Amino acid sequence: MSAASYLAKAGLDVEVFEKNQTIGGRARQLKRDGFTFDIGPTWYWMPDVFERFFKDFGKKPSDYYKLEKLDPAYSVYFGKKDFITIENTLEKIYCAFEKEEEGSSKKLKKFIKVAKNNYDIAIKDLVYKPGISPLELITTKTALKVGQFFSTIKRDVRKKFKNKRLAQILEFPVLFLGAKPSDTPSFYSFMNYADFGLGTFHPKKGMYQVILAMENLAKEQGVKFNTNSNVDSICVENGTVNGIVVNGEKQSCDLVLSGADYHHTESLLEKKYRQYSENYWQKKIFAPSSLLFYVGFDKKLKNVDHHTLFFDVDFDKHAETIYDNPQWPEKPLFYASFPSITDDSCSPKGKEAAIFLIPLAPGLNDSEELRDKYFEKIINRLEYLTEQNVKNNIIFKESFGVKDFINDYNSFKGNAYGMANTLLQTAFLRPKLKSKKVKNLYFTGQLTVPGPGVPPSLISGKLTSELIQKMI
Ligand SMILES: Cc1cc2nc3c(=O)[nH]c(=O)nc-3n(C[C@H](O)[C@H](O)[C@H](O)COP(=O)(O)OP(=O)(O)OC[C@H]3O[C@@H](n4cnc5c(N)ncnc54)[C@H](O)[C@@H]3O)c2cc1C
Repeated sequence: MSAASYLAKAGLDVEVFEKNQTIGGRARQLKRDGFTFDIGPTWYWMPDVFERFFKDFGKKPSDYYKLEKLDPAYSVYFGKKDFITIENTLEKIYCAFEKEEEGSSKKLKKFIKVAKNNYDIAIKDLVYKPGISPLELITTKTALKVGQFFSTIKRDVRKKFKNKRLAQILEFPVLFLGAKPSDTPSFYSFMNYADFGLGTFHPKKGMYQVILAMENLAKEQGVKFNTNSNVDSICVENGTVNGIVVNGEKQSCDLVLSGADYHHTESLLEKKYRQYSENYWQKKIFAPSSLLFYVGFDKKLKNVDHHTLFFDVDFDKHAETIYDNPQWPEKPLFYASFPSITDDSCSPKGKEAAIFLIPLAPGLNDSEELRDKYFEKIINRLEYLTEQNVKNNIIFKESFGVKDFINDYNSFKGNAYGMANTLLQTAFLRPKLKSKKVKNLYFTGQLTVPGPGVPPSLISGKLTSELIQKMI
C-alpha cells in the first residue's frame, strides 16, 4: 500500500490485487463478540517513520488516527510476582535500572547515547537506501562504526551489564529484526533507542487503524483495490511482464510490483525467470513463525500491562529451538498484549481482550492438539506468575499458527515476519527490489530492504516506487 500510494501520486495508474477478503496482510484485524484484536503487529515503534511517510503526501498520522504513548511501555516477568516495568521516559527507565543494579543507570546512559547516534545514522539515512550497492553503507559516519557491525548486540550488552535480567531487556528489541541477539550486529542497538528513547505507542482502536489510514491515503491518490483476488501467475514474454492472472483471468499491465512474500512471488514465474534458487531460500535465516491466540476474557485481568513479556524461562534454550534445532520448545517464552487495558474500544466493558504470541521455528508441524497443549502451558504460567485464575473466564479463544501463515499469506515455511536482519542479510545482501531477470518486475515489503516490521515495510514501498520512477 505504501508503494501503491507513492506510485499513484507520481501519476501511475495503480491497481492492488489482494487474495484475502480484507487488506492489511499480516496487520489484519479480528473482530469477535465485541472484542477487537490486531492479528499481527501490536507494537507501534519509530513514530518518526510513520510521520515521514504521511508527510510525503502532505499529511500527518493524526489526520487518520489518534496515537497514545503508553505508560508503562511494557513489563517483563522473570518469576512469580517478579517483574520489571519499563515506563515512558528515559529518566524513569534509568531509575528502574538503578533499582535493579547499582551503577547500571550510568552504563545505560552511555549505551543509549550510542544507540541514539546509531538511530540517527540508520533510520534517518541508511534504511532509505535501495540496497543496490555496498557503497550505500559506506559513509564517514558508518566508517567510524565498523566495529559495531562485527560485534553482536549480545556481546556488547553482556560486556556492559552483568545483571542477567537487565541484559535480557536490552536484548529484547532486536528480536523484532528476526534473529538471535548473538547473531545481530551491535550497530542495531538503534532498536534500543526506538524502545527506550522514543517509546511505545498505541493507535486508538489498534494497529489496524494504520492500515485503514493507508487504505484511505492510497485511495486519495487514486489507487484501486481488489480483494478476494488471488494472483495465480505472472505472465512474462521475452523477459518482460505483460500481465498477471487473477482468479483465472488475465489482467494486462505494463509493470508488476509484488508485495507478497518474495519466494512465493517467484514461484508465480516460469522457472527461468526466477532469480533465487530453492537452495538460496533454504539457506537464509528467516524470522520466526509464531503461534498466536486471541482470547476474550469475561473479566479484567490484574498484574499485567498492555504489553507484557514472560521471560521466566531460559531464553537461550527457546532460541535454540527456533534457529539451531527447529522443534517445539519445551518451555516457551511468550508475549501477551492486553489492548483493552488502555483502550476500551478493544473489548466490551469489564472484559479483557488478550493476544498471546509464542515465537516458533518456521516450518514446524502444526496441529490443533499442539496448539491446545501450548495454550494450556502458557495460560498455566500466566495464572501462576500473575497470581490469578483466568481459565474459567475465557469466553472464546482463536488461534493462528504456522499453517495459517502459509495458507493466508503464502509465507515461506510460515515465517511470521520475513527474513532476519543479520549482517549477511542486510541492505544490498537482501533480496533485490528489482528483478534481475524480468525487466518490469519489482518487489516490496518485509522480505526486501530494509527488512521486517511495519516501519521498514513503509520505507520499502518508498524505495521501490523511487526505483520504478527512475526506470520508466
Ligand atoms: C504476529 C506478528 C507480530 C508482529 N509484530 C509487529 C509489531 O509489533 N510491530 C511491527 O512494526 N511489526 C510487527 N510485525 C511485522 C509486520 O507486521 C510486517 O513486517 C509487515 O506487516 C509486513 O508487511 P508486508 O506488506 O511486507 O507483507 P504482508 O503484510 O504479508 O502483505 C503481503 C500481502 O500479499 C498478499 N498475497 C500473498 N500472496 C498473494 C497472491 N498470490 N495474490 C494476491 N495477494 C497475495 C497477502 O495476503 C498479504 O496481504 C509482526 C508480524 C507478525 C506476523
